Amino acid sequence: MVRTEITIETHEVTVIRHSGRQTTGFCHACQSFVSAYLPDEIAGALRWNDTDLQVMLETGKIHFIKTAEGVAPFICGDSIGKSKI
Ligand SMILES: [Zn+2]
Repeated sequence: MVRTEITIETHEVTVIRHSGRQTTGFCHACQSFVSAYLPDEIAGALRWNDTDLQVMLETGKIHFIKTAEGVAPFICGDSIGKSKI
């Protein structure tokens, strides 16, 4: 089983766990392969609403990426780790 943990620095520490299935994609902003997460996963873990998510994407604080599976949009896990609200 593949398990990935990302520790996110916000007003509290949130850990997203992926069990069994890991998604990886190339983020052009980071210029590297990163863990990719569904917007719903991110929003749920950080308790963001749709507006929060939209603002973070529009301001470039978090990155949209496409995965090898071609399913979009995913969100760059590295950018989440660097972002704070
Ligand atoms: Zn990125």
